[in-house]
Amino acid sequence: MEAHTVLVHGVPVRGVGVDPETRCAHYHSPVDVIALRFACCDTFYPCHLCHDAVAGHPARRWPRDRFDEPAVLCGVCGHRMTVPEYLGCDSRCPRCDAAFNPGCKRHAHLYFEPST
Ligand SMILES: [Zn+2]
Ligand SMILES: [Zn+2]
Ligand SMILES: [Zn+2]
Repeated sequence: MEAHTVLVHGVPVRGVGVDPETRCAHYHSPVDVIALRFACCDTFYPCHLCHDAVAGHPARRWPRDRFDEPAVLCGVCGHRMTVPEYLGCDSRCPRCDAAFNPGCKRHAHLYFEPST
């Protein structure tokens, strides 16, 4: 599958095999419907593997000093969340109640700068 950019509720999402709800070639279950913003290129990707595959540079996690800016996108409704909002949302979109993959949070350290 080739790399491309898909507009998800008007927000560009880059990656491999991205669908209109931000699933990708790597994560494509019914609940894989969020995209993460990377600080290195200020772009949303469905997952870190998509970033590795198409960005052409090392990933930089979303920094703590920007945790008040939207960095997580709901692919179902287009709601953009801050990191604390996402981590506190109990794997459901605060706006449209879509279920998110609870497993994503185990990968939070790949996307968000840790507190220590
Ligand atoms: Zn990047
Ligand atoms: Zn991916
Ligand atoms: Zn939503």
